[in-house]
Amino acid sequence: MSALADLVLEASTCTRCRLSDSRTQVVFGEGPVDARVLVVGEAPGRDEDIQGRPFVGRSGQLLERLLLEEAGLSRQDCYITNVNKCRPPGNRDPEPSEVAACRPWLDRQLDLFKPVVVLTLGNFAARALLGTTSGITKLRGRVYPWQGGAVLVPTFHPSAALRGNAAALAGMRADIVRVRESLDRAGPVPA
Ligand code: URA
Repeated sequence: MSALADLVLEASTCTRCRLSDSRTQVVFGEGPVDARVLVVGEAPGRDEDIQGRPFVGRSGQLLERLLLEEAGLSRQDCYITNVNKCRPPGNRDPEPSEVAACRPWLDRQLDLFKPVVVLTLGNFAARALLGTTSGITKLRGRVYPWQGGAVLVPTFHPSAALRGNAAALAGMRADIVRVRESLDRAGPVPA
């Protein structure tokens, strides 16, 4: 079995935090193992919990549209995951202890995938990966060095844009252009 399949199987029975009591299933992530872009959101919502796939609801539709329009990327070009792999009941924010309990799964994904760009969506993902308590409005708008020569691009969560926040939508567009520029700087996909 591949290393990724092993990891997915291992995570599927995770009980490291109490979100395991209320989830329908673990939403580990989706996409090709050689994806050059790794997208990290917050936590699965209702649709994701039912389908077992990340970003399949309205946020996912907006994300897909912006990736295509601003970076020429399809969903299938990216590996998409979340900081928390299980849905918090009622879509509440994940608690710090739940983020910490889930972190080893994200770290193992980041080690396994060798992305050129890590795109984080919203406060939780940016804070978790940049190790800061600053908010996304302050953190976004630039590119951060990431492990293995990759870069991390923080942006708003699509749900902010869906709430009618025009600045969040414009910010997401500008940040996803940064994703495109970073990919172009890294050069063509190796043959
Ligand atoms: N919001 C997230 O942060 N992740 C999902 O998978 C869906 C909605």
